[in-house]
Amino acid sequence: MIDPAFDAASNRLTIDLAALVDNWRQMGRLSGKARAAAVLKADAYGIGLEPAAEALYAAGARDFFVANAEEGVDLRESVPEGRIYVLAGMWPGNEALFFDNGLVPIVNSEEQLAVYMAAVGEHGDHPCVLHVDTGMNRLGLTVEEALALANDPARPASFSPVLVMSHLACADDPSHALNRLQLERFRAVASAFEGIDASLANSAGIHHGPDFHFDLTRPGIAVYGGEALNDVANPMTPVVTAEARILQIRMAKAQDSASYGATAVLSRDTRIATVAIGYADGYHRSLSGSGVPLRRAVQAGGHGFVNGYHVPILGRVTMDLCLFDVTDLPENAVRAGDYVELFGHNVALDDTARAAGTIGYELLTGLGNRYERLYID
Ligand SMILES: *Cc1c(COP(=O)(O)O)cnc(C)c1O
Repeated sequence: MIDPAFDAASNRLTIDLAALVDNWRQMGRLSGKARAAAVLKADAYGIGLEPAAEALYAAGARDFFVANAEEGVDLRESVPEGRIYVLAGMWPGNEALFFDNGLVPIVNSEEQLAVYMAAVGEHGDHPCVLHVDTGMNRLGLTVEEALALANDPARPASFSPVLVMSHLACADDPSHALNRLQLERFRAVASAFEGIDASLANSAGIHHGPDFHFDLTRPGIAVYGGEALNDVANPMTPVVTAEARILQIRMAKAQDSASYGATAVLSRDTRIATVAIGYADGYHRSLSGSGVPLRRAVQAGGHGFVNGYHVPILGRVTMDLCLFDVTDLPENAVRAGDYVELFGHNVALDDTARAAGTIGYELLTGLGNRYERLYID
């Protein structure tokens, strides 16, 4: 593919929309009888809302979750017929966005229920989702509130949830006792709202089997190629490849030091690749090879991959630049202008995240806007 801006970029992302769609279909198959939604919050986990939404819509996705109403408005253009659920819900002042753009508010509290009922009174009937907190203590009506609402004979007819949902706190750890407890609580709520679709599972929850699937699943990270479960080989296809260009190759002598703080003291004559990537690009400073507190807890810093070789980060990651130790590569294996893969098919997103003391979700959503992006399918 010829894309001069991409070929000349200092740093760049290749986003594989075919892999995105494959991953979504795989989560759909794993969801059994339930249909799979797609979670597109935070600019589709950093990969770009519009291309992600269009690819998934073309593949048949019709249920979409976003974080807030503004994201919903942006998404509406790409998914004319899709149902767009807004996780943050409605509050005084943003009601019109829901009615004007056909967005479905998720009702997260008694207060939001009152706002929704008032808005429906003014604008006319409109679907909503009821969110019940079964153990996270984050958002959602309490189980008691939800059951009281279900059994309230005075419940107004204009209260019309199309879905009742909850969210698992520990889905990434299938052995955690809270999963079963949340399931039991959610079952009670779902049966009290009989006839209304129910949704509990995110990516990780889908792996817990049919009990957790209900009518609609909400896969996010797995669709983007990230790990959902702890300590299990990731079955998904990488969607994002992040690369950055080597600006310079230089030699440094044994006993010299490298980067800020002089924390990387060289044990040998060292060949260094200076690469155009830094913490301003979401390549976290905590990936540094040395000189950051995290290195006491997680021994290995980040590493990259260039022309067939894995190369460790040397010293501190700086705002725009990062040093890689390329001493062990054959003489002519690497030169200025080559691209180092930061993560993708050769360096797992989640391995890089672990080296940074975080998770793939944070790495993806924090990439920033200096990358040139190429969408392929
Ligand atoms: C983000 C989110 C999801 C998707 O979770 P993943 O772990 O990325 O699959 C599902 N449901 C809710 C309520 C969320 O906030």
